[in-house]
Amino acid sequence: MAKVTGGDILTKQLRAEGVDVVFNIGADPMTLISAAMAREGVRLINFRHEQANGLAAQAYGYITRRPGVAMVGSGPAMTNAITALETARSNCWPFLLIGGNADVNKRDRGDFQEAPQLAAAAPFCKWSVAVDDPRQLPYYAHQAIQKMMSGRPLPVYLDLPASTIAGQVEESEVTYFPGAPPPARPLADPQAIRDAVKAISEAKRPLLLLGKGLAWSDAADEVRQLVDRLQIPFVASPMGKGIIPDDHPLNAQGARTFALQNADLVFLAGARFNWIFHFGQAPRFAPDVKVVQLDIDPSEIGNGRPTDVGLVGDAKAVLGQMLQEVGRKNRPIETPWLQALETEKHKNAEAIAGFVNSDQAPMNMYQMYREVVKMMDRDATVTADGENTMAISRIMVPNYLPRHRLDAGPSGCMGVSTPYAIGAQVANPGKQVFSFNGDYAFGWNGFETETAVRNKLPIVFIVANNVTIGGPQARELGGNRSVTEQPTGIRYDRIMQEFGGHGELVETPQQIRPALERALKSGKPSLVNVVISSQPARKKQAHDWMTGRSTRQQY
Ligand code: ADP
Repeated sequence: MAKVTGGDILTKQLRAEGVDVVFNIGADPMTLISAAMAREGVRLINFRHEQANGLAAQAYGYITRRPGVAMVGSGPAMTNAITALETARSNCWPFLLIGGNADVNKRDRGDFQEAPQLAAAAPFCKWSVAVDDPRQLPYYAHQAIQKMMSGRPLPVYLDLPASTIAGQVEESEVTYFPGAPPPARPLADPQAIRDAVKAISEAKRPLLLLGKGLAWSDAADEVRQLVDRLQIPFVASPMGKGIIPDDHPLNAQGARTFALQNADLVFLAGARFNWIFHFGQAPRFAPDVKVVQLDIDPSEIGNGRPTDVGLVGDAKAVLGQMLQEVGRKNRPIETPWLQALETEKHKNAEAIAGFVNSDQAPMNMYQMYREVVKMMDRDATVTADGENTMAISRIMVPNYLPRHRLDAGPSGCMGVSTPYAIGAQVANPGKQVFSFNGDYAFGWNGFETETAVRNKLPIVFIVANNVTIGGPQARELGGNRSVTEQPTGIRYDRIMQEFGGHGELVETPQQIRPALERALKSGKPSLVNVVISSQPARKKQAHDWMTGRSTRQQY
């Protein structure tokens, strides 16, 4: 009879679940698993920090709509990955984290890197479990995938003692499971569908708020048809951008504040009334705004503010039901509401035109984006972090496809841009990936640019280098910028060259295009270090983003 190890068993089950890439950190006691994975043809992408491989795995999972898996060692290795559990939790993304732990027979005795990992993971996960017997691995791995992908997607954690990984059993004692089926697509109550379509059709100033739940559900076609037929203007959440192409005429992003405040009905679909949509509250929304809400999680309906019509189900399925209810009817194309939004869009575009069209050097962020977007393909993926770098990218960088923009999201996690870009490039080989990094945010995971070089992932990393460590500190510390400013601009481009990638330093807007041409032509991962003025240039916001109160001094 053939004996197999826990590492072999886990690998075989994950293969059955369709896992063919694992975002990894080589560490004991996981090496037996990674060796089995390598033998079975699983692609292992090795990182330098566990936060980063966790972030890359969840980006890959969200983009491909397949299981994203990260593997880390024990103790500090696993605790380093907790941030990745948190970002997946707050993004409602599926993500399987597999961590090593102490041998079962030495549990609680202070074994090497033994830590309370299960308890640490639990608050961030839909499900977390320790597997003490290698024969249980197929069941738990299968359950983990099934749970994380179905309903509201969320992270799950498998804690594997060294004895489970290395333990040997007769293969005849092991029962494997067929891979989990695609997530179910529950339909909404037909009466709620009728109510929702009626409410939206009767509204004078309807507005669709769409979020990444629609992207995950693959509902782009359906939502676009609904928008076209009902002529509903829409505002996307930051990562909802691209579900409907940004150049769609009903995109009201450019009039966001006005649209939110003046809508008499909002249709919140695959998004939440969390801080990103201002909790659905005044003054950002009209106090008496009607709400139609679509979510796969019944407990989300009415969360934050009462809902007039709740649609519980899978977005693609439910929007299909709504399309059937709508039939071929179209609303009149020109309404005062659409005209008012157009006027506001023009006003806002004019307010930033001075920044965008400037030729100053060192440049502001708008100038940087103005030049970079000229080099971007329509199907490029964009990742972004850094306070201003990310905020201005939302305005300046268009998205045309769902799941092609990833940023700090509801968790507000800085340092995501680099690892998300790695996950994106693995998910979309041969397509452009642009990773925009604030120079301070780059500090968290910037070393993973070496991971991109080692794994031949030709991402374009852009560091917006304004030689300072970010808005909040600069604001609060007022005049004392010595604490927040770095002494000189760091030559991140040279670091990239040391790693074996392509590096470019850019000091004027005119230099961006040729630098990007060389970077893209090199075929290597590249880093373009863009010198940005340390004097922030940004349109004054109508409301403080955090308190929601109307304007205070921004900088
Ligand atoms: P965003 O950051 O884009 O505003 P959120 O993460 O706040 O989006 O919200 C996403 C919402 O989408 C969650 O409430 C989640 O339950 C919901 N969701 C996830 N998958 C589906 C699906 N298949 N159908 C409908 N809603 C979904």
